[in-house]
Amino acid sequence: MMRQFLEIKTANPDCLLFYRMGDFYELFFEDAETASRALGITLTTRGKHLGDDIPMCGVPVHAADDYLQRLIALGHRVAVCEQLEDPAEARKRGSKSVVRRDVVRLVTPGTLTEDNLLDSRRNNFLAALARTKAAGDDGFALAWADISTGEFGVAEAARLELPALIARVEPGELLVSDALYDDPALRNLLRETRAAVTPLPPAVFDSTSAERRLRDYFSVATLDGFGPLTRAETAAAGAVVSYVDRTQVGGRPPLSPPIRETRGAVMAIDPATRANLELVTTLSGDRRGSLAAAVDRTVTAAGGRELTRRLASPLTDHARIAARHEAVAWLVDNAALRRTVREVLRSAPDMARSRARIAVGRGGPRDLAAIRDGIAAAHALAGHLGEVPDAEGPDRLADIAGRLRAPQRAVHAELAAALVDAPPHLRRDGGFVKAGFAAELDQARDLRDESRKIVAGLQAKYQDDTGVRSLKIRHNNVLGYFVEVTAQHAGKLTAEPNSQTFFHRQTLASQMRFSTGELADLEGRIATAAERALALEMEIFDALVARVVADGEALDAASAALGELDVHAGFAELAVSRDYVRPVMSDDLAFDIHGGRHAVVEQALAGAGDGPFVANDCDLSPPQPGDGSEADGGRILLVTGPNMAGKSTFLRQNALIAVLAQAGSFVPAESARIGIVDRLFSRVGAADDLARGRSTFMVEMVETAAILNQAGPRSLVILDEIGRGTATFDGLSIAWATIEHLHDVNRCRSLFATHFHELTALSETQARLSNATVRVKEWKGDVVFLHEVVPGAADRSYGVQVAKLAGLPAAVVSRAREVLHKLEETDRNAGAAGIVDDLPLFASHVRRAAAPAAAAGSPSVLAERLAAVTPDDLTPLQALELLYELKALA
Ligand code: ADP
Repeated sequence: MMRQFLEIKTANPDCLLFYRMGDFYELFFEDAETASRALGITLTTRGKHLGDDIPMCGVPVHAADDYLQRLIALGHRVAVCEQLEDPAEARKRGSKSVVRRDVVRLVTPGTLTEDNLLDSRRNNFLAALARTKAAGDDGFALAWADISTGEFGVAEAARLELPALIARVEPGELLVSDALYDDPALRNLLRETRAAVTPLPPAVFDSTSAERRLRDYFSVATLDGFGPLTRAETAAAGAVVSYVDRTQVGGRPPLSPPIRETRGAVMAIDPATRANLELVTTLSGDRRGSLAAAVDRTVTAAGGRELTRRLASPLTDHARIAARHEAVAWLVDNAALRRTVREVLRSAPDMARSRARIAVGRGGPRDLAAIRDGIAAAHALAGHLGEVPDAEGPDRLADIAGRLRAPQRAVHAELAAALVDAPPHLRRDGGFVKAGFAAELDQARDLRDESRKIVAGLQAKYQDDTGVRSLKIRHNNVLGYFVEVTAQHAGKLTAEPNSQTFFHRQTLASQMRFSTGELADLEGRIATAAERALALEMEIFDALVARVVADGEALDAASAALGELDVHAGFAELAVSRDYVRPVMSDDLAFDIHGGRHAVVEQALAGAGDGPFVANDCDLSPPQPGDGSEADGGRILLVTGPNMAGKSTFLRQNALIAVLAQAGSFVPAESARIGIVDRLFSRVGAADDLARGRSTFMVEMVETAAILNQAGPRSLVILDEIGRGTATFDGLSIAWATIEHLHDVNRCRSLFATHFHELTALSETQARLSNATVRVKEWKGDVVFLHEVVPGAADRSYGVQVAKLAGLPAAVVSRAREVLHKLEETDRNAGAAGIVDDLPLFASHVRRAAAPAAAAGSPSVLAERLAAVTPDDLTPLQALELLYELKALA
């Protein structure tokens, strides 16, 4: 047995080997040590290898999914090795023969099909990254497939676009060639994805053999039917199917042909932006608290997945967005239809995942029932949508209705006729075929049940015959049916004439067990009938599976349509219940939100009973009454205001409104006009990234650099508190220069929040920059946040008041007030004309722009600055800084 184990283990070195032994999967050697540590199960030993004890641990087969899930979540791969024959068969070959075993499947993070290993509301993609040499070093392609639903996509990306693409697909497992894995340029990218990265030999990514593999997988003579795939795309898609083949060991999950995504078809959102805006998960990785959780009103698993996908990849195509809005609008207006649709959807099970399991031979009776109920729901929905006259309803819904009708009625009829209403989970025990469906099965079952009844009747007869009232007929797996009496009554059965009928089987401490000819006979009949019944059920199961597999594509189409309908109806429900409005989409640079709200914060406030959310306007449209074209450039709104006033909330809410609109939803506003955004950037908050060994400031600068390098005229940029992570002058300078660059070079619609009031002076020189501030009121020394965004600049920062609100000790607060007072005094005494003049660098900048004649470094500026200095108060470092500053003035 150990020899067999070692052979199989050698063939699967990168996996933990679950070696089937009866009712357990056992792990040996290092696997056992790893698994016992990871799962917290006991490590023991079993037998010896080369004189040493073999470490061993095991998990019961019936609970294996649970353990698998935990191992996969920890990033392990598991090879499941099953017994391929009955132990009896092995014994026939010879007393020392080992049961034949082999790996039937590799379980890896990207190749799961079991419901309890998957999140029903999210896809689990297996992705592969390929690079073509022909296209230079920059030509990458990503292919991604979800074997639990059959979706298969592929897209090309340049090096810079890659992080956004991978972050959007969010693969559970990412395949790369060894060469890419070792490429220093990609190291950070690979480290930053949450996916388990699996390096594979370069041969897997060879585009010629990839083509052959794809043709073979889809049984087609040529790939031309899939549209023109580039070499890199072919290589990536080929790597995916090759890995699927390898892990499924011959089982072929049904995949749709790879659907090629055109470049720019979806809004590009880089990983940092995606994380910061918490689109589908929060920064801590939960769905709760994310945009997806706040706007999800879907009622099916397919709908949940579709919603997540839409929010992760908002569209950029005007017509497609409009079609989605049209469908939502129709369902908003037709309340009765919306309610009916949602009611029917509620009864629709997860058809896609059931069908995928069935196709790879891992489906059970419940999966067949899911298909049955799914088809019923799809047909019912098609009926409801069909009542809408084509001319009136939106095209999108007519198209959905068409796909909902795709599965054959006959398939449904067969499933409905054959299956009991609520079948058991496992097929091996039978009991899922309805009585009356197959005459032969009914007969076998009758015989089995009849014989069981006769057995039950025998007990009374034997009690009468022997006069032993406590006599019982029992059953166990070793003896089968037997008669049991207590030891004190045993004599009655062993004496004449009963000894003719009862023959002794077993003596226990206080019982004695007997058998009879009649019982043995019945036992045989029951066993044969039960076996026969089970065999017939298996035949019926296989026939139903074949029917489902044959109609697979129609089922996939219906399941996808069901998900889409659920999303439209869910968005409509959301729009009605939360008062969202249909955004007006355009191809210019408009961004005019009236009465906008933050989708997540609004609901959180309502939930906590924390008063209403204050709606705010935001207009980033080009200010000139020009034609609104790209040449104009979008507007930059500079938002100042104290901490806690609501700056971040305001910034994010506008980004989320753009995402929602382009995902096909209505938006939380009174009205919205949005020129389609092709890329969204945000640099929000200062999340520490110590885990990756980068300082907050470094991360902030890396992300800001990405924005300034990549943002184009149709981008929307959200920058929050840039420059906060460093010394004041540094930070202010960087923020200043960043705004100038956004204004003059990127020319995109931008929102910029800052606590540097000095920046508001920029509005004097930058034509498309306007100032806004979040209003606060001072009341008896406290600050009251009004969360109202109004034009203008904040006059104070209210830091001390906020600190007081936060519960800083009273003594610290009052000391801080004193210090602040003193500092303000010094400021005034220094005679600075204004805060800008206090900052020589910017003073010179403004003057240069406003009045070129005023020379920088004039003696008076130097003198003023020097007059404000008290040398005794300076630390050596401050003195050095001052020296630099003066030098800059000179
Ligand atoms: P800042 O970025 O200015 O420090 P935040 O945006 O973090 O402030 O907002 C602070 C808090 O104020 C938020 O947690 C939120 O609960 C509340 N808030 C923000 N904007 C609004 C609003 N428009 N209406 C109601 N409450 C708001």
